[in-house]
Parts: sequence; structure tokens; C-alpha cells
Amino acid sequence: MHRQQPLCTSRPQRVPRTRGTLWLALLAALTSATGCGSPPACEPGHNIVWIVVDTLRADHLGAYGYPRDTSPAIDAFARESQTFRNAYTPRPKTTPAMAGAFSGRAPSRYGVTDVAQTLPPELPLLTERLQNCGYATGAIVSNAVVDHRFGFDRGFDHFRKKHDRGGAVTDEALAVLSEIETEPFFLWVHYVKPHVPYKPADDARFMDDGLFAVEHVPFGDTYHATFGSLPRVIEREGQTNPHFYVALYDSEIRDVDAEVGRLLDELRGRKLLDSSLVAIFSDHGESLGDQGYYFGHGKFPYDSTARVPLLLRVPGRSPARIDLPATLLDLPATLLAAAGLPALEETDGIDLLAAVDAGLTDRTIITESGFRKPQIQVRRRDAKLIYVQDEKDLEVLRGNPYEFYRTDADPGEVNDLAGRGDPAEAELRRELEAWLEVPRAPKRPKLEDDQRLKKQLRALGYAE
Ligand SMILES: [Zn+2]
Repeated sequence: MHRQQPLCTSRPQRVPRTRGTLWLALLAALTSATGCGSPPACEPGHNIVWIVVDTLRADHLGAYGYPRDTSPAIDAFARESQTFRNAYTPRPKTTPAMAGAFSGRAPSRYGVTDVAQTLPPELPLLTERLQNCGYATGAIVSNAVVDHRFGFDRGFDHFRKKHDRGGAVTDEALAVLSEIETEPFFLWVHYVKPHVPYKPADDARFMDDGLFAVEHVPFGDTYHATFGSLPRVIEREGQTNPHFYVALYDSEIRDVDAEVGRLLDELRGRKLLDSSLVAIFSDHGESLGDQGYYFGHGKFPYDSTARVPLLLRVPGRSPARIDLPATLLDLPATLLAAAGLPALEETDGIDLLAAVDAGLTDRTIITESGFRKPQIQVRRRDAKLIYVQDEKDLEVLRGNPYEFYRTDADPGEVNDLAGRGDPAEAELRRELEAWLEVPRAPKRPKLEDDQRLKKQLRALGYAE
């Protein structure tokens, strides 16, 4: 289904940003001379803005039905946007999720399956396409595992990092915007909040709202003891009630929502909002305690970590709530088409807006999780198959290599119906078998020797 072909290994050719066809012809000649084939002719279309809120569960936003008032700014944005109600990350860890969002390709194809792995230099990225088509490109990231050390600066004219959980990321984003806004631009703003550790501006914000249940779960001895126990990275004053930490997580969302609102207000004030394609999404969710998995992501196959918010504000398009399943792998195809630019040569995604316009209401989405042999999830709108291959995973999950849920009736994935003869399970099993035939790349290297990175990973709860 997806053709394998050699990838161009050269860096993008830099040319002055002139819309004239002369420069495009020169660009074509330059890249052709490197043996990479001629790039498609293109000119910049709409500005594109990516606002990524790390670790943000869709179902903790008002726009997705959450009762707490965590997200007034994002909810207002959703009312002007395409709201994808069933959107998923290809892998619930920051580095592979963002690699998938930028490349449109499933992370297992190129071996980026965990945090802090480097992007293969030959993997074509959305950013390079935009830069080659004449966009000014700028980024500000506050999560260490998507910075220049891992190749995420590829295709950017301005790439800045700011390890900050407050307003400094927005301030820096506006400074970057000022440098690129006079030309057609692509801006990526990546907020690390509400990723652990939880340090909201107001601890008490959601503590007394009647949604605060009381139970007690002990702390585990390591950062990774997230099954059946609380990880130490979240500990505050010895509190053992997970709902206390959920309230802190929600308060963190409210903080970052205010920053997203400030950024959107500024775009509107600079008269850039209505000429831009603006996407708000998350790289993955957070377990919080579902299925006995506490305040982590990456290790388990359920929708608490797989499902993400995905909002797309499209100039000239009426707002809509869309049930068609979507994945972050769809972003390059969708945005390039919406901006009138040529698609990347290879993709595992689709143009979501074209699919909606064509009347498509369902499709199969395959996602993965886990750190050894991958846990694989094959889902449609109404049903989901999970395949668990690793012995250690089986010990902490349900113990069944196959799990099957009718997610229309059981969105919490509580009643495992595997092996009960549901025809949908057989159909998803066939899709799984086909996926298992797809070649996988060896795992990409990690920057293990980087002492600064180790410190940063510990702060995010990723290393012991
Ligand atoms: Zn993340």
C-alpha cells in the first residue's frame, strides 16, 4: 500500500524568498543536480501555526465535554474550528509523536519509538517542504526531547528552546513571530505544560469543586513504578490521593490555556489569525490512573494516552465537529493541501478535509505504544483491537495478548470482549496481520552520553 523508495539525503536548498518563477526554476535545477529529483513547483499559501500542548488529554477540555472549566481559550478556539473528536497519536511519547506529526509517517518505519531518539536525516519533513516553498519558519519548544539535538530543527530558519513552564514560551514565540511574520510563515510553539511535574500557578483551583473523589494509592519506589502506584515525580506533601494530582493536572491545563489564549489574541491583534491555518493539538494524553496506570504515558495501549485533542482553524471554512478518526500522521497531508502546496512523497496519513468533503465518516487507524515489542492498537470509530506481544507488558496489563473493545458503548475500555465472535474483531485482526507485515526500522540511537539531557529527562520523570 505504501511504496518504499529511496529518500533524498541532501539538506534542503536555500534560496532567497522570492515568489518569482525564476527562483523556483533555479531551485529545481539545484536539487536536480544533487540527484534528489526535482522538487515540485510551489508558492507559499496560508500561514501555518502549530500550537502543541504536551500531554493534554482531549477529555480534560471543555471542547471535548469535560465538566471542569480547564480550557476557556481553547474552547473558544474550538468553536471556530474543525474539532476532530476521535484523534490519536501514532505513539504516546513526545519524540515519536512529533516525528510522526512532522513526517506523516508511522514512527516504527524509521525506528523512532521512544523519547530522545534522533530523527533519521533522510526522513522528509513538513518543515523542509514549507521552507523550500518559500515559507519563513520559526519554532519555540519547551520540551527538551524535541530540540535540535534530535533533528527537530531541520527546516527551521529560527529554532529556539526555552525550558520554562510559564509565560516565557509565549513571550519567545511572539519574538520569533515578529521575525517571520512579514513573509508567509510557519510557526511551531510547543508548551511542555501540563506534563509532570505539576506546578500550577494555583494549586487550590479545582480542589473543592465536587469532582474531587478520595482514594489512596501508595507511591512506588521508582519513577517508572506507575502501574498500581504513584510515581515520585508528582509527589506533593505526601499526598496519596490520585484525584488531588488530577486536580493539579487540570490546574496546569488552565495555566497553559491562558498562554494559548494570549498567543491567539496576539495573532488576532496582528491580523494574522484569519489568514492562517492554525492547529492546536497534543502529542499524547496522560494515564492519570485509568486501568491502574498512574500519571504516565507510553507504556500502555488505552485511549487515555492515545487520544489527543486536534483542532484545526481553516480560513473560510465553517466550524464543524468531526467524527472521522484522525491521527497526527494526517497533519502534513492535510495542511499542505489546505495551503495549496504539494504533498510529501510518502505518507501514512490522509488529507482530512478532503476526506470529510468526500463524505468519509470512518476509517481504520493503527497506533502503537510500549517500549520493547510494540503494543499495537487497531481501531475504528466503534471498535478497537489491542495486540500485546511483550511478556512483561502482559504481566501489568490484562494478561491477554488480544483485547477487544466496543468503544462506542465502552469508551473507557473496561469490558474486554476478545474472542466472543464479534465480526468487527475479525476485521480488525486482518488489518493487524497486514500491519505486522510492514517492515520496521531498527531503533534509532539515543543521546545516552549527554549529561544535561539525563538531567532534563529526570525532571520529566523519564529516567531513574
Ligand atoms: Zn509529550
